[in-house]
Amino acid sequence: MKNAIAVFLLSVLLVLLLPLHTHAATNQTRIILNGQELSLPKDAEVVNIENNIMIPIRIVAENLKFNVAWDQANQNVNIQEGDHSILLTVGKNEASISNNIVRLNAAPQIVQNNVVVPLRFVSEQMGLGVAWNNSDKIVTLASMKPAPPSPAPENTTAINLIHDITYVNNQLIVSLDHEINPVITTLKNPERIVMDFPATDFGEIENKPVAGAMASLDTSGSPQIKDIRYSLYNNNPAQVRIVIELNNATASNYTQQTSTGKFILDLSMVNSSVPTSPIHNGKKIVVIDAGHGGTDPGTTSFTQNHEKDFTLALALKVQKLLQNEPNIELIMTRDTDVYPTRSERVKLANDLKADVFVSIHGNNAPLSSQAKGTETYYYQRASSKELATIIHGKLIQALGFSDRGVKNESFQVIRETTMAAVLLEIGFLSNQEEEQAMMSEINQNKAAQAIVDGIKEYLGL
Ligand SMILES: [Zn+2]
Repeated sequence: MKNAIAVFLLSVLLVLLLPLHTHAATNQTRIILNGQELSLPKDAEVVNIENNIMIPIRIVAENLKFNVAWDQANQNVNIQEGDHSILLTVGKNEASISNNIVRLNAAPQIVQNNVVVPLRFVSEQMGLGVAWNNSDKIVTLASMKPAPPSPAPENTTAINLIHDITYVNNQLIVSLDHEINPVITTLKNPERIVMDFPATDFGEIENKPVAGAMASLDTSGSPQIKDIRYSLYNNNPAQVRIVIELNNATASNYTQQTSTGKFILDLSMVNSSVPTSPIHNGKKIVVIDAGHGGTDPGTTSFTQNHEKDFTLALALKVQKLLQNEPNIELIMTRDTDVYPTRSERVKLANDLKADVFVSIHGNNAPLSSQAKGTETYYYQRASSKELATIIHGKLIQALGFSDRGVKNESFQVIRETTMAAVLLEIGFLSNQEEEQAMMSEINQNKAAQAIVDGIKEYLGL
């Protein structure tokens, strides 16, 4: 009896000790090995655990005709091929490769009865070419044949290795051994930017394309980017090609720079100068965004008013003036006390392919009740700067507040929108006098008229 209880308690303990699988299952993942799609058992899948693509090792190893043994007691996977052996332990960041210890970028884990290991491990330790297509959730694996003995290369240029390729904040960043300026070509139909890196190969990058194949970056948060793909375009001499394909944007507006070990292609200046879409009958699309709202009150004013109420009152006055403009299609991100997230506001404007985005706010300087004046923000794009300068001038004229200038700042709603986009800080709600002025109907009407005049001037209406 005592024994039974002990066994029972032990199993409870074991269940409690099982690792929690905080992974996000990537649905309908597929594995292609040497051109053949593997039939995955129902419980075996490719998973993404803290940004490591992990694959069920047993299925892959068995299909490669390796011997795979699972040691339940020690939670070990032993993979044998000839005199080559790999020993992996669940939960351990180290593996033993033919008795040498190597570090793993993520520990093997058990996911639905299958031991999964980082894709990178498979490429580095099993000599497979790997690629991960994030949009289609496909892992491609290819056995690398030993290269045939080649004649001594005539071109003895040192090979430059790429260690990382990322796309973040409208910038493609390529990290390399040595600074290099690629040869850049722009192509039309579709709009593409093609970068050729001479004498360059891939180092151990996260998502390394199989020889002769392409890999792509996840650019799902960047509406102006259709696709960024890269490949080893030439083998001898090595040459890496990276292609950025754009959505409804002109490829020629990029800027480029190199800094220690990095090549950076900046696409913030790429305007989605889309021909006005036919459904809007040639009207310009203007999105007015009353800042904050609903659960997000914004800042609190000197007399304890909420910023969200000021921004809505002003936005509704702009709406009244703009809604009967024959050449303008007006869209409000909100016209009541609700809170669309900033991402939703951005998406709305981008999906509409709007021409103008204006976000209305009231400023706050908690430590200086004397701070006052009007500030207008844009982010990098020339079109946004132009719109900001025009509206700012009209606001200063109309309200007579201090001129704090037109400024470049990385606020989400002006950074991630793809059209001329500005964020207005009309005045300081934390300043007693200025709050009083901002809350008055007369001044709100003046500010609304200034914003409308600025938008129309920018649009040439
Ligand atoms: Zn605000």
